[in-house]
Order: sequence, then structure tokens, then C-alpha cells
Amino acid sequence: MAERRKLIAGNWKMNGLRADGVALARGVAEKLKAAGPVPFDLLVCPPATLIWPVAEAVAGSGVAVGGQDCHPKTSGAHTGDTSPAALAEAGCRYVIVGHSERRQDHAESDALVAAKAAAAHAAGLTAIICVGETLAQREAGQAGAVVASQLAGSIPPGSTAVNTVVAYEPVWAIGTGRNATPADVAEIHALIRADLVKRLESGAAVRILYGGSVKPGNAGELMAVPDVDGALVGGASLKVEDFWGIAASCR
Ligand code: PEP
Repeated sequence: MAERRKLIAGNWKMNGLRADGVALARGVAEKLKAAGPVPFDLLVCPPATLIWPVAEAVAGSGVAVGGQDCHPKTSGAHTGDTSPAALAEAGCRYVIVGHSERRQDHAESDALVAAKAAAAHAAGLTAIICVGETLAQREAGQAGAVVASQLAGSIPPGSTAVNTVVAYEPVWAIGTGRNATPADVAEIHALIRADLVKRLESGAAVRILYGGSVKPGNAGELMAVPDVDGALVGGASLKVEDFWGIAASCR
């Protein structure tokens, strides 16, 4: 079986101003320093304007920084957007693409998500490609088919275990306090793994994260599910103790 180091990623969404973000990032870096060697990678994804100061605050600490979105083009007339190269220059190593909030709020299609991931790869970033079904789709028994179709459309050619992470985030579990059961997670992660192995040469080594109301209290059982290689954490990533508690469950 491929060795996959767990990745615990915090998606801060549109939360916090500079002082909050820098303090949160420093708090996470201090926890990591105090812990010594750990069996997981840590990533924080601040709002765009906080990427520079957060990257400075965690420089040399081992905590990586990521963007929450990027444009598929390298430059041009795209008001309000951020290029992958600009994210990389600001200190990012990762970027989230296709988060369900972007798919919903900005009508992002699989094709656009794939283009964003390809642009991220070209800029040297690792794309965290998000997939996940809505509650209506799950209740209609379509969860697996929806995720398979999103994977087919959202993973660009050239994806590898180095430049790509997949995050399974059932939409009904995001920010709702309602997380998928370990059995639900196991079923969909196995499906994603089989798809990645079929689709990519290094598919067995691609990390697959679970996201959706992960908290210190449920992280242990979720992180122990086969083919769960870490977590994409929203709300609980905004408190150092909670984020660290989730990471520490990977020991
Ligand atoms: C997310 O937005 O990626 C997420 C998983 O949020 P939460 O942990 O708050 O459910």
C-alpha cells in the first residue's frame, strides 16, 4: 500500500482580520514546534489578503499556507481574481479549488475546477480538488455517482500524487455540525481511491481528505477510516486548540 502522510488543512473561509489571522497561524506553529516530529502535515488557508502576513508568521515552522481559490488564467482582465502565480509568490504551496461554496455561490462547473487545478499545477501549487454530494443527491441514492462524475470532470490531465489532493466534502455536512458516519466516509473514499488508481499512475498515493464538521471529538474515528488521509477543516480550524486537537488525533 502506498505510504500517505496525513494532511490536516484549515480552511478559514472569509473569517478574521490581520491580527486574528497572524495570531491563529502563530498559535498553530507554536503547537507544532512544541510537539516535535509529528506524523502529519499542517496547512492553513487564510482569506486572500492575509496570505502574506500569515506566510511570514509561519515561515520556517513547517506549517504550510494555501489559497482558497485561484483563477484558471495566469494574468489578464479578471477583476477581483487571483492568479496561481500570485498565490505562490505570496507564500502558498497549496490552493483549494472547487469547494462546494464556490461551486454553489459562483456556479463553478467541473470544467472550471479542472482548469483551475491545471493552472495551479502549472504554477507549482498542489491543488486540493473538492467533491461532494448535496443532501438531496444523497437521499436519492446518488452520492457515489455524483462524486464519480465530479472526479471525472474536475481532475485535469497531468495530475499526480505530488500536485493533487482530493477532498471529499458532503455538502450537507459542511458547517452543519452533522458529519458523515465512518461507514459513509469509508464507502465514498474507497470509491474515490478506485477512481484515482484507474485514472492516474500515482493514484494509490494521492491523499484523500474528509471534510464536513470535523472536530476534535470525532476526528479520531474519522481519521482511522481506510483511505482517509487527513481532514479539510472549516469552523474548527479557527481555534488553535480545536485545530491542533484534530491533528493530534492522527498520532
Ligand atoms: C469546509 O468548509 O471545508 C468545511 C469542512 O467546513 P466545516 O468543518 O465547518 O464543516
